[in-house]
Amino acid sequence: MKNKPLFWQLYPSLLIVTFLEIFVLIGFARHSFRDFYLEDQGAQLEEKLNLLSPLVLSSLQDKRFLQRNCLEMGEIAHTRITLVNINGQVLCDSKTNPQEMKNQKNSHEIKMALQGLLGKSVRRSLVLDRPLLYIAIPLKKNNQIIAVLRGSFPMEKIEQAIETLTLKFGLTGVILAIILIFVNLWLSRKISYPLEIMKSYAQKMAMGDFNIKVELPGNHSREVFQLADSMNDLGNKLDKQFNKIVKQRNEREAVFSSMREGVLSLYIDGNIMHWNKAVLEMFGISIHKDFKGSPLRDVFSNPILEEIRQKIHNKNQFIEEEITLTNNRIVQIHGTPIYSSANEILGTLMVFYDITRLRQLESHRKQFVANVSHELRTPLTAIQGFIETLLDEENIEPPMRQKFLGIVSKHATRLNAIIEDLLMLSKIEQESEIDDINFQILSANSFILPAIEVCEKKALDKNIEFKIDIDGEIKILGNSNLLEQAMVNLIDNAIKYGPADTQVKISAQGRDNNLLLIVEDQGPGIPEKHHQRLFERFYSVDKARSRNLGGSGLGLSIVKHIALIHKGQVGINHAKSQGSLFFIEIPKA
Ligand code: ADP
Repeated sequence: MKNKPLFWQLYPSLLIVTFLEIFVLIGFARHSFRDFYLEDQGAQLEEKLNLLSPLVLSSLQDKRFLQRNCLEMGEIAHTRITLVNINGQVLCDSKTNPQEMKNQKNSHEIKMALQGLLGKSVRRSLVLDRPLLYIAIPLKKNNQIIAVLRGSFPMEKIEQAIETLTLKFGLTGVILAIILIFVNLWLSRKISYPLEIMKSYAQKMAMGDFNIKVELPGNHSREVFQLADSMNDLGNKLDKQFNKIVKQRNEREAVFSSMREGVLSLYIDGNIMHWNKAVLEMFGISIHKDFKGSPLRDVFSNPILEEIRQKIHNKNQFIEEEITLTNNRIVQIHGTPIYSSANEILGTLMVFYDITRLRQLESHRKQFVANVSHELRTPLTAIQGFIETLLDEENIEPPMRQKFLGIVSKHATRLNAIIEDLLMLSKIEQESEIDDINFQILSANSFILPAIEVCEKKALDKNIEFKIDIDGEIKILGNSNLLEQAMVNLIDNAIKYGPADTQVKISAQGRDNNLLLIVEDQGPGIPEKHHQRLFERFYSVDKARSRNLGGSGLGLSIVKHIALIHKGQVGINHAKSQGSLFFIEIPKA
């Protein structure tokens, strides 16, 4: 019964109730008819007995006359007539010899009549051996009961009439039942159908489809339509609420996933509550699945996280930790307990900052400061040494003095070169950081020719010839001063490290979508093992030689920086067997 559809609960119940009603009705009708017949026959019999009573009273004295009258009376009244005295003894009977009949004192109807009432009973006659309706009336003389007159009516007739009636009622009941089977079917469907439709809509809502409109075909009760309206209303409200929640969740997810900082929140038991993409990336977790509810150590194998979680939990306050991950990333962790609005601790929140680059920069900066100090100290020590010698030794020969002053001048020039290059580097860095570099559409001629002009004097001194091949048609977006500086540095190196009486080739050609600037010399070249570090600050292949030539060790790093500012790159040709070939690649405009 519990899980049956409403229709199957309703329809059989209605049928049972209907059939019960029909049966009860037929039973009741049968009973009522029986009562009615008994009453009616009883009344008729009583009437007959009352009519016969004066005749019986008058013939009471003569027994023979009485018996004859009895037979006649029975025939006239179409009934069996029995006359009983107050002792119950049968005086005469229209059907039987009174001597053969037993005393009737104990018969119910006789007892009643002897009490002065109307005696009535239905029972089986021993004499006639069939059920009879007995009616007995007291016969009075001078207000004294002197005898009882009894009439009887065969019950078969009544029973027959009742059976016929029952049959008719039964047939009517069957026809009624057949009609009611269909009426109940229609009624059950009418009640269950709208509920079934609403159930299917409710199931859709349970599946998350709130954007529904319950439509009920046909005529239904006002309550059913009100229920449908309420469902539509509920669906609309839930739809709006759901969309609002989804929107809020998406916004929150978008914020979390676009954060560069890793975010990880944990329940009080250490299981994962929330996380973002950044934290998975930091810990090198490539599987993206639903980690909600998973234990922390199952997802993040690093045991330090569990320790930090414990620490936050125990101290119950904000903590800051720095850890180095297995992939060498340095991560700073800010951890804090999460409180509910009722000030109960719900869990832990950890925010992860990837400070690898920061730490690298710090270490580069320290390295750079150490390098700068070292590079500056060498010429300064030399200058200081020779000046002290010149000051202390008064009798230095003029040619020696001249030589010392020459050395001082050379170191001062180098010192100047280092300081100028440092200033240049910091200026470029500063300008690129604050986006203060002026870019224009340029052709290669506009910055290569001035660069050649700057280096011409040095080239002439070493009888170095320039071989120039520039495609002036190609345009790039660049800063001509910076690009001129980069070209000066490369051409200057080519002259500096190239032998006298050789050639330096300078070309600017298009390659794919880039402008390729090349400076090639016929010098000693650079062994390949140095190529990777060549563009680092203060890196030098041959320290003594480059110092001797007055190099700052910053020229190529300036070139690299300028190339990067132009979204390009710098390099050295590995395949070169003799001489060096440096190139800068800058995207065409
Ligand atoms: P420097 O001021 O010392 O020349 P650079 O940064 O310009 O510094 O160059 C770095 C190092 O690369 C130099 O010390 C030198 O050893 C090497 N180098 C650069 N250009 C050439 C070249 N054309 N031929 C040979 N070696 C070169």
